[in-house]
Amino acid sequence: MEEIVEKCASLILAGSPGALLSAAELLEDTRNDSCGSESAKLGFSRVLQEILAYKRGAVSDHLLQQIVKFSADSNIDSELQRLYACKVLVALTESEAVAKYCAGEKQKARLLVKAFMEAQAYLLERMPDQLRGKKCIPEKYLGRQKDGDQKHVFLNLALENVKGFASFSFASKTFRLALQKAGFKGFFPSLESLLSREIFKQASLQLVEKALKHYSGLMRSFCLFEKSQNWAFNHGMIRVQASLARLVSLDGATERLIDPWMLEAIEGIPGGAGVSRTVLFRMLLAASEQGLLDLDRRIRDKRNVRATKTVREQWLELGKMRVPRGTMPLIGLVLGELASVPPFAQALFKSALGIAKNRADLEGGRTSEAPIVCSWERCDEAGSEDDAGRKFSKCAKCSLAFYCSKEHQRLHWASHKRQCGDKSQQADLHHITKVDEEIGNEPE
Ligand SMILES: [Zn+2]
Ligand SMILES: [Zn+2]
Repeated sequence: MEEIVEKCASLILAGSPGALLSAAELLEDTRNDSCGSESAKLGFSRVLQEILAYKRGAVSDHLLQQIVKFSADSNIDSELQRLYACKVLVALTESEAVAKYCAGEKQKARLLVKAFMEAQAYLLERMPDQLRGKKCIPEKYLGRQKDGDQKHVFLNLALENVKGFASFSFASKTFRLALQKAGFKGFFPSLESLLSREIFKQASLQLVEKALKHYSGLMRSFCLFEKSQNWAFNHGMIRVQASLARLVSLDGATERLIDPWMLEAIEGIPGGAGVSRTVLFRMLLAASEQGLLDLDRRIRDKRNVRATKTVREQWLELGKMRVPRGTMPLIGLVLGELASVPPFAQALFKSALGIAKNRADLEGGRTSEAPIVCSWERCDEAGSEDDAGRKFSKCAKCSLAFYCSKEHQRLHWASHKRQCGDKSQQADLHHITKVDEEIGNEPE
């Protein structure tokens, strides 16, 4: 483990696009190796946490610096450096500890939101060229992309950014707030345009699955809390959902993807939030064309939408509807429709009504696959932090190591003392803080 941590950390700190790409691939391999047993999974969490703790958080601070520093440059080396730094950071945020650390402070959260939104905009802008087969990325920076996948490198990176948004907003309220402020108009529309038919036309099923996974993860993270949920519904999330549903039905072969995604989306909704369940249920109906037509007809009657519009236009129209807080009567409306929906949808809706009544259920919607674990490498049996709602204590000096007990902290000290120290002494952070002051001057 120590070897991987050391290797990965030094690749990241070396900082060239090639080194960052190698680090990302190393993390991906380590993650794939950890899929087997429960203790292997804990081991993966621990690797990510150790990378976080490396030299008092130097790795994540360095990545953040790279992401901010190169956002202004427009040459391809700088752009790749930033994009690959985002990629590595997103890979690290599979650990909840990393996501919390990176996005937990207001300043850093704002920097992250800004940088990731810029990166996303850049990728969207450059993607058409790349899809047309123009070589945008020098050979040496392509990593192990296969020939056929090369033109989807940008799409891949953009989907990973979506995953980053999801992990950060799941882990940190500060990040969700920063996103709401910064992304007021543009956030969901930009996510929506990434799902355009054109972009996914020749994409592999794998990429479609990736899109479904990360998008539903992001939307779930917004649905976990009532405030952000309402914000999301009122600023275009439903349209994104509609695009996702369309993406799923692009060709008949992907139809099998519908059920798990819908179920997942519904399971992420907290109890009592009737509105969102209703909206999701409407989307569920979209899975069956007949159900969609029935529902649209009724909504059209209610809202006086002209009959000449296509089903898709109406659906998008529905997506623009503002969802008022606590509109319980909508539930009644939907229940009234229950008789006319396909049986599988009825079953899903019924199960949706019966779930997510308490905090423990919400936790089931978490997006991070590497929960916080005790940092002592031999503490396998202690499991992860969220088992039975337990909280680990942090190292008082650096706040970057986590312990289930005093005893394990003592045992871990032998190796941790080399990484531990007072964070305020670190010069690296000054740069980040300085940049943030400039951003802080923007109107909110
Ligand atoms: Zn322990
Ligand atoms: Zn420490």
